[in-house]
Amino acid sequence: ETPVLEAVAATKHFAAGGATVRAVEEASVALHRGRIVALVGESGSGKTTVARLLARMYPVTGGEIRLDGSPVGRGHPDREYLRRVQLIFQDPFASLHPGKTVLHNLERPLRIHGHVRDRAEARARAAELLERVSLLPAKEFLDKLPHQLSGGQRQRVVIARALAVRPAVLLGDEPISMLDVSIRLDMLNLLTKLRDEEGLALLYITHDIASARYLCDDVQVMYAGQMVEGGPKEDVIQRPAHPYTQLLVDASPDPARDRAADGTADEDGTTLGEPPNLADPPSGCRFRPRCPHAMAVCAEAFPPRTELGGGHWAHCWLHADGSGVTTT
Ligand code: SF4
Repeated sequence: ETPVLEAVAATKHFAAGGATVRAVEEASVALHRGRIVALVGESGSGKTTVARLLARMYPVTGGEIRLDGSPVGRGHPDREYLRRVQLIFQDPFASLHPGKTVLHNLERPLRIHGHVRDRAEARARAAELLERVSLLPAKEFLDKLPHQLSGGQRQRVVIARALAVRPAVLLGDEPISMLDVSIRLDMLNLLTKLRDEEGLALLYITHDIASARYLCDDVQVMYAGQMVEGGPKEDVIQRPAHPYTQLLVDASPDPARDRAADGTADEDGTTLGEPPNLADPPSGCRFRPRCPHAMAVCAEAFPPRTELGGGHWAHCWLHADGSGVTTT
């Protein structure tokens, strides 16, 4: 099946203070209808940049973004693209107009995308949206201002607003990390419901492997701007092939404890050491300075993608044939 949205070898370099920051290097990810992909990595790994490339907030430096299998080009996205691909940020408060009611916040996208003709219809549609995100009783929330809601309620309004335009894809950039720990699980269950009932394709960005394990179908792991491993979640998390994934899994608490709910996640992954400077990254595999298995070949070239079976893959010379390396 053709992915709804896809990054194919997408690269993003930023100019910063006379240097080039190599934020994302040939990263690929495919989002399919009715599936959730978790993109896992430390802060600074490039996962937010990948989401923004998919949302076309800025153009790729190399590679391409495809919608329904067709390359989208590097220009500004059209209205239809902006409708179909919705990005949800970490901070629900910043995403809503603070001086406007929930109804007003929802009404705007409904009107822009032509789904309602008048106020009464907007109110009815907005109430339906709140019901879909389980903000009940919906009518009581319509006239509230964002500051009168809890963080979890606000994030539900943000999701309702994204749904207002009938998107095909939701890109959630750490959508639960600022929420109270007691409601994080509810939010993950809401995302699962949207996948199952609405057939949405979801990208769930997180630094927290336990919430990825709970929520997603597939996992991809990013390190220092490079995709290092991916595949069905049980394969990747239970049998990590890449030393970095291994480190992340080891640093994650026992799966019997729900890290998403206990709030002990190390937000910056600081226990894992410092990620490299992306203005001057290590040659070859960027994990090399921290890797206990690094070999000479690891400095020569970024390892090719090795298929490990069942859709599980990794970019690591431990799993690839490194003889005669001359290319990436
Ligand atoms: Fe370690 Fe080499 Fe694999 Fe990179 S390619 S993770 S340095 S063994």
